[in-house]
Amino acid sequence: MRAKLKIQGPALATVAIAALITGMMAAPVVANVTDKDVLNDQSTTGDVVSNGLGPRGQRYSPLKQVNTETVKSLSPKWAFSFGGEKQRGQESQPVVKDGVMYVTSSYSRIYAIDVRTGEELWQYDARLPDGIMPCCDVVNRGAALYDDLVIFGTLDAKLVALDIKTGKPRWKKTLGDYQAGYSYTAAPLIVKGMVVTGVSGGEFGIVGKVEARNAKNGELVWMRPTVEGHMGFLNGKENGITGGKANKTWPGDMWKNGGAATWLGGTYDPDTDRIFIGTGNPAPWNSHLRPGDNLYSTSRLAIDPDTGKIDWHFQTTPHDGWDYDGVNELISFDYTENGKTVKAAATADRNGFFYVLNRTNGKFIRGFPFVKNITWAKGLDKNGAPIFDPSNRPGDPKKMKKGESVFAVPSFLGGKNWMPMGYSQQTGLFYVPSNEWGMEIWNEPTAYKKGAAYLGAGFTIKPIFDDHIGALKAIDPKTGKVVWEYENPAPLWGGVLATAGNLVFMGNPEGYLMAFNAKTGEIEYKFNTGSGVVSSPITWEQDGEQFVTVVSGWGGAVPLWGGEVAKLVKNLNQGGSVWTFKLPK
Ligand code: CA
Ligand code: CA
Repeated sequence: MRAKLKIQGPALATVAIAALITGMMAAPVVANVTDKDVLNDQSTTGDVVSNGLGPRGQRYSPLKQVNTETVKSLSPKWAFSFGGEKQRGQESQPVVKDGVMYVTSSYSRIYAIDVRTGEELWQYDARLPDGIMPCCDVVNRGAALYDDLVIFGTLDAKLVALDIKTGKPRWKKTLGDYQAGYSYTAAPLIVKGMVVTGVSGGEFGIVGKVEARNAKNGELVWMRPTVEGHMGFLNGKENGITGGKANKTWPGDMWKNGGAATWLGGTYDPDTDRIFIGTGNPAPWNSHLRPGDNLYSTSRLAIDPDTGKIDWHFQTTPHDGWDYDGVNELISFDYTENGKTVKAAATADRNGFFYVLNRTNGKFIRGFPFVKNITWAKGLDKNGAPIFDPSNRPGDPKKMKKGESVFAVPSFLGGKNWMPMGYSQQTGLFYVPSNEWGMEIWNEPTAYKKGAAYLGAGFTIKPIFDDHIGALKAIDPKTGKVVWEYENPAPLWGGVLATAGNLVFMGNPEGYLMAFNAKTGEIEYKFNTGSGVVSSPITWEQDGEQFVTVVSGWGGAVPLWGGEVAKLVKNLNQGGSVWTFKLPK
């Protein structure tokens, strides 16, 4: 007995010291990320391994430790600075695995952070060439995790895979020629061992496409162009011309620089085994140069992940003449009607209409405006096609310097722009960060020139109400009813997070992270992060406690393109930091 004690004493002390040293020095051990981890991401609350908290992109968490009762005591645990002299817009959604957060920032930088302490584990800065051409600020919207890799896109249109433990590059691939206007800012999507990406550059006459690569080594599996007439590829072999043949819905050679950029990336629905990805404006903006529907611009595409073929498409703005990019996320959800489950998907389009589709075949179920005073269309017909108001299309300049100007609502920055909405499984409502604004828009002559803006249009964005531009709206997808609405002075530019704690989190350009009562819209919590929030918050559980994280840093497209609205927000300060919150113990 006594002898045992003698041995046990020093042994315990040694273990304790060893544990202390380990705690101080060792980084958390991160396990490889599997397809199953990605598919189950929404229900596995100990991590967030995908953009959108699960491949369907619902941005809903079943966590409820932080709820309408407790959220008032939510407090910052740590804040992390991106550093550097360059700041600009921070639109990133972080991901978290085994106690490590991976977060991208402006200028194609990425950081690994210990979530218990806020300490940096590694940082990787992409070396960007001079002459990159991001249209809408030097943002990045997040990374993907797969196997032992962290994968993100860069402003010079590269896809970079880093070692999850060290941040050292493992493979790098080119998505497009940055000198022709290609760039990449969206979070990549993981589907069946592949990393799926789009491209940015619709304002430079690029040709939109979707690519799927083996996520472990970056080798191309398939490529699907999103402009009619261009050839797709599967395993190095030709795999059919998109749309069957050139020229069907485009005049002359206009399809060769047709735009339809897939700049926001996509979502994946395991149920129907389809990738959903949106496409931007047809190029150029001046629609009189390209009569026709201009497929597959301003559409939602359902793509078979095994072949890269387009299964169905739904075009929200045929023959777009207002830069109403149709890139907005298509979120899968089920609802019950007349005792039957409807496999639906919803999207809030830049053109101001909210669409509910049957996600098995792309058929239109219903649609309605989610912003006020829309001018360009009088409504939607029974198939969901817009009923155009021809007097509200900007005029044909022909050879003149400037065609007839119109005042269009929404503005080209959209009833909703990139900022993702959320769907609460608890309330059955969508939470849509929207903006109420319009624009003077006119057309001008233009011609394609590699690496030059290809718009053929001029514009000035203006507010349409005196007291607000931003409006977070809780929308019932079964009826189109706006259940509640929060009005924000500055335009909203950040995503939404819904939780089972009956909360909806969202940031605003004024710097606040806010939590709303998901049922009533009452503000239950707000905290100022010191710079504008234009990113998407996340939540997860660590050591039995619920954490909430949001990235702060004002910027994005509004200060660059916002016309009179840009003047209204010119005093908002830039920044670049990650804020992590939890309840006091
Ligand atoms: Ca998870
Ligand atoms: Ca565009």
